[in-house]
Order: sequence, then structure tokens, then C-alpha cells
Amino acid sequence: MINHILNKNTLSKTDIISLLKANKEDTIKLFKKAYDVKIKTVGNKVYFRGLVEFSNICEKDCLYCGIRKSNTNFEKYNLSDKEIIEAAKFAYKEDYGSLVLQSGELKSEYFTNRITTLLKGIKEISNNELGITISLGEQTEKTYKKWFDAGAHRYLLRIESSNKDLYYKIHPQNKKHNFEERIECLKSLKKVGYQTGTGIMIGLPFQTYEDLANDLLFMKELDIDMCGMGPYIEHEDTPLFKFKDELMPLKERFTLTLKMIAVLRLIMPNINIAAATALQAIDPLGREKAMKIGANIIMPNITPGMYRDDYSLYQNKPCTDEEASDCKNCLEARITIAGSEIGYNEWGDSLHFKNKLL
Ligand code: SAM
Ligand code: SF4
Repeated sequence: MINHILNKNTLSKTDIISLLKANKEDTIKLFKKAYDVKIKTVGNKVYFRGLVEFSNICEKDCLYCGIRKSNTNFEKYNLSDKEIIEAAKFAYKEDYGSLVLQSGELKSEYFTNRITTLLKGIKEISNNELGITISLGEQTEKTYKKWFDAGAHRYLLRIESSNKDLYYKIHPQNKKHNFEERIECLKSLKKVGYQTGTGIMIGLPFQTYEDLANDLLFMKELDIDMCGMGPYIEHEDTPLFKFKDELMPLKERFTLTLKMIAVLRLIMPNINIAAATALQAIDPLGREKAMKIGANIIMPNITPGMYRDDYSLYQNKPCTDEEASDCKNCLEARITIAGSEIGYNEWGDSLHFKNKLL
């Protein structure tokens, strides 16, 4: 049965659900097939995106997130422009090739201008050589364009769940958390010209296998260029924590995330897929395992160590007590052990995106 599905050219929703529910033996076949497809399409290289989580200040109140506005149980921080530029210099000096700027969501003219200046600054200190991905939430198309013109060329905006009902179970029902608006933002990003990435959380309360299959088909339908999806990890200071006893065990969420990555690699063979940091919160070798299945992007945290504890989206976030250079050494060894090669000094753009331009 599994061989029959794996040999198909197009996977239906039912096929995807069967793959997500595969037993141990079939899962090994799925993983092997996905890895083969990865090697054949995007190759053996893994690309770095130095991740700078520059501020945990957020205007939104997503019910799952540890840095939501209504949580007062953590220290707020906002890196100075100088600290952000220093982090970018580190990424450049270490040949990372690219950088990701991520933060809580803020919408203001001041924030838009600050990011614009920072993007130009990063391009300047790196001789235009560092590629820049940003993940700064929902903004107007005008803002997206301004940031694109300033040098950002990839954008990550997870849809979190493509099921509208589930979306509203994990977000407050108000204007600031509007499902349709999030989809519109993804469309604006594509229109502006970004390599556009989305993703979801896996193992959310109320989430079904059908939801997950629909999420993958949503990504295909939207024709995304990149994906970053990871396990949902509960945080005790969030409203969603009350459902903790109804969740699938962490280990199962981990395996299900790997299966989602594998299936996505089958249905969208040439996109970039990130090995989410949340995988490592469950299994110390989580990201390396994801690379053995289909992921080809890794985002080493280069936020200055003293701030890392406070970007606590979920509990047990890995490497919060390390400095960026420790992260690099440890990752390099582990990636090599996992049999991949690191694409130092390369942007590692989405092949899917490049092919669309041909
Ligand atoms: N604020 C921006 C946004 O929401 O798009 C970017 C930063 S936000 C912290 C990045 C991602 O963290 C979200 O898209 C969400 O999927 C993930 N995240 C938040 N809380 C999480 C949790 N408890 N478990 C796993 N991932 C979580
Ligand atoms: Fe803010 Fe992003 Fe967390 Fe939502 S997921 S509360 S927008 S940081």
C-alpha cells in the first residue's frame, strides 16, 4: 500500500493522511523516499540563515505564544541597532551567507522606518553579500515593498493553521488576528516579489490529520517558495496551556513533524524547507534528523546570548545559554555527521522561486 502511494505522481488528501498515519516500517520508507527526492532536486547542501530574534515586544496575543502581549511574566527586550548590526557582521564574518530578522509584531511608521534603515545597514556592512529573510508579521503591502526595496528578499509568515475554525481556536477573535488578512498578506508578499515562506504548528490542540493534510495542500495551492513548520510546544503562561492533557505526546508531535516535512518534500520537491528550532527542543538531534528527511535550511541562533532566555515562545527552547560562536561549532559537526554539506557564503535561494522566474 505505502509503495503504491509513494510511487504516485500526485498525492491526494487521502494519500497524504495515510502517509501521516504510517506505521514505523512505512515511515522509514516515506523518509527514505523524501530524502532521495531532496538529494535529486535541491541536493545535499544545507544553507545557514543566522537568526536574530531582535525583540520580544509584540502587539498581538496569539493564544499559544509565550511572548504574547498579555503575558507579563517575562522581561521585554529590544536590541539596539548597533547590536543588530553586530550580529549581522558576525554572520557575514562567519560566512553564513544569509540572515533572518525576526521579532514580535509591531505596526508603526517608526518600526517600518527602523527596519528599512537596518536592512540598508546590513547590506552596506556586508558589501551587499548577505541575503536577508525577514519575519515581522502582518504589515501593509506598502511596508512589505519598502523593506523589499531596502534589501530583504525572503519573507516568512506562517499561516499557523489553514483551517479557519482552528485558526480562531488558537487566536483571539478580533481584528488584530484575522485569518483572511493573514492570507492576504501572503499574497501581497508574493506580489511584491519576495520568496515567500509559510508554515504551521504541528500537534496543536483540536488539530486533526485532515487539517494537516489540508495545510500541505494549502501550501501547494499557494505555490510557496519556502516552508518553516515545527511542533507546537505548550507554554504555561499562555491560554492554550489548559489543553495540555489533550495533546499528543511530544515524541509523537516530533515524528509527525518529520512526516509533514517528508510529505511536503514529495509534493513540492524544489522548495526550501527549514529544520525548525522547536524540533531541537524535543530531540537534541531534531534538526539533523529533519535534514535526513527533506529539510535543507537551518537557522542557527545568533541573537546575543543574554537575550535568548527572553525570546521564550515555548518552554525548553534550546541553546538559550550559548553564544553564537558555540552554536556554529556545534552545528557544523552535527551537520557533517548527518551527511550534509554546508553551503557557506551562499544565499541558497529557493530553487522553486528561481524556476518560476525562468
Ligand atoms: N511575530 C511574527 C509572527 O507571528 O509571524 C514572527 C515571530 S513568531 C514568534 C514566529 C513563529 O513562532 C510563529 O509563526 C509561531 O508559529 C511560532 N510559535 C509561537 N509560539 C509557539 C509555540 N508555543 N510552539 C511552537 N511554535 C510557536
Ligand atoms: Fe506575537 Fe508572533 Fe507570538 Fe503571535 S506568534 S504573539 S504575532 S510573536
